[in-house]
Formats: sequence, C-alpha cells, structure tokens
Amino acid sequence: MDIGDEPLLIAGPCSAESEEQMILIADLFLKHRKPNILRAGIWKPRTRPNSFEGVGEVGLKWLKDAGIKLNIPVITEVANTKHAEQALEAGIDMLWIGARTTVNPFLVQEIAESLRGVDIPVFVKNPINPDVNLWIGALERFQAMGINKLVAIHRGFSSYDRSVYRNVPMWEIPIELKANCPEVELICDPSHIAGTRDLLKQICQRAFDLDFAGLMIETHPNPESALSDKEQQITPKVLDQLCSNLKPRDSKISNQNFITKLEILRDKIDEIDASLLKKLAQRLEIIREIGTYKKENNVTVLQIDRWKRILDTRMEWSNHLELNETWMKELLSFIHTESIRVQTEMMAD
Ligand code: PEP
Ligand code: MN
Repeated sequence: MDIGDEPLLIAGPCSAESEEQMILIADLFLKHRKPNILRAGIWKPRTRPNSFEGVGEVGLKWLKDAGIKLNIPVITEVANTKHAEQALEAGIDMLWIGARTTVNPFLVQEIAESLRGVDIPVFVKNPINPDVNLWIGALERFQAMGINKLVAIHRGFSSYDRSVYRNVPMWEIPIELKANCPEVELICDPSHIAGTRDLLKQICQRAFDLDFAGLMIETHPNPESALSDKEQQITPKVLDQLCSNLKPRDSKISNQNFITKLEILRDKIDEIDASLLKKLAQRLEIIREIGTYKKENNVTVLQIDRWKRILDTRMEWSNHLELNETWMKELLSFIHTESIRVQTEMMAD
C-alpha cells in the first residue's frame, strides 16, 4: 500500500468498550488531532480466560460510526475467518492480523483465503517470536490471494529476559523484513513495544529515525479506566503533544553539501569494511595453519584456556577503545565459532 510522504497515524483504543466510549474518542480526536485511520480491537486475544475478551460483533458498528463521524477509514483485528466475514459485513475498511495469529500459518492461510478477491488493505503484525520468515510468510500468504495493499506492523517480540519493554523491539528484524519486502510499507506500534506511556516518545522517534512510514498508537478517552492495556494508552490530547514533539526525518536526501559529506564518510566506511574483511580472511588462513598443526599432533580443536585468554585480553583492549562490551563479546564469540567450525572440519578430513 502506498502511504505517501506524510507519516501515517493510526490511533484509537486498544478495545472498543461501549458506544459512548467510541463517540467520545471521535469527539476528542476532532478536538485535538485527527488520525488517518481509527483503530479499535473488537475481539481481544487475552493471555488468560475471564479477562475482558472484547465486546464482539456489536462493537463493529460503534467503530464504523466513529469512523464516519471522523470521515476516516476504520481498522480492527481479525483472528479467524468468522471475524473477517463479520468485519467485512459491517463495512470495516481495513483489517489487521495480530501477533498471536501471525505465528500460526494455518490460521493466516485460512484468513487469507477468505479474503481472496476482496480489495481490502491488510496490516500484518510481527509474530510474537522473533522470526522474520514467519512474518514474511504471513505477508506472502495474503499476496498470493491478490491482496496487494499490505502493511507490516512492528510491535516488538516476547522475551524471557527482563526488559524495560513489554515486547523488546529488536529493530534489526523489521529492518530485515523491509530489506526482503521493499514493496511492503512498514509502520510501528510503539504501544505494545512499550507497555507503559513513558517509553512511547523514544520508540516513536526511533521508528522515524529508521524511516518507518507511520505509527499505530493506542489512544483512550480515559486510559485509567480502560478495560485492556491501560498502562500504555494515552488520551487524544497527549497523542497530539506526542506527535508535535516528534521530528520526522527525510529519507530522500536533497541537500548537495550533505550528500557530498555523506559520500566521503561512506567511502571511508567502505575502505574500513574492505580491510576488516581482508583481516578476517588472513586470520582464517592462520586458523587453518593451526588446524593442520593440531591435527598432526592429535590435539583437540577446542582449547578452552586459550579461548578464555583471548576473551580476557580482547575485552581489555575493547574497554580501552570504549567499545560496547556485549557487542564485542558477541563478535568475538562469532569469530571463534567460525574458527572452531573450520578446524573441526579439517579434523574430520
Ligand atoms: C492490539 O493491537 O491491541 C493487540 C492485541 O496487539 P498485538 O497483536 O500486537 O498484541
Ligand atoms: Mn492492546
């Protein structure tokens, strides 16, 4: 789907809760800032039963009417073919596939098939686990049914590790998706990444810095009383302030001075990368020599003391160079893994 030059703003409550709430949110958007698309969850995928699971079909009309009042398209989440049918029937303009549905290729396939021949934009959230292929696969299933107005929504990934985020962003994954599917627009859902209001601004700005085409932000007339995701929702007034404080970035560079300077710096990066690769190749040559030597002398490939010493010394060097410790550890371990692989293969010959 072609979003255009201005960032797309999708806003609205996590869940449609009542007709009054949907009328109120539309009034508040008219007063403060009108989004491009109005969102509301009608069927809510909840972790435990007996929590609020959405109002169901009755809410579709409230959403649609609020959209008519605002004169903008409306979008909701569909998690099975019945939802999709009911949403289409109620005149919902766009659909999104939630993170818990994207993980399931059977469901995605069924929903995609039920939309064959329907000209409707479909937004696909990333799966809850950090698997870029599962996300691409879901988009492909819709493409195969002729749906070509497709948008990917980055909403972060579940993680076992403690984090300040509700869902860790792992920005490299949406970037990889964009590299693989340049025709698919990519937007960010900072609300589900953050889990709390205070992190929203930094995530939104990061999305703009990374050239995301828009934002989906959960907005409620009275977040404190929201029936779902109350910690992360903001009022339309706060949404307006947030949007005013974001700096949109230009992905198309037009200033000639800037281009020249950028090119000089990029040339330098090219040179450094070329010499880094050359050094890695030289290192691997020596690793092979050592491999031959180990084989002749019948000693093990893995020499744990040597590996520990490598780590200790390199971490000290990298500290002096003020390089990030985690990044360096990962890099060294990555390089070491290849050395072990090469030498192990030599042993087997
Ligand atoms: C939502 O947008 O309200 C929602 C349930 O999102 P997700 O599928 O990203 O958890
Ligand atoms: Mn939500």
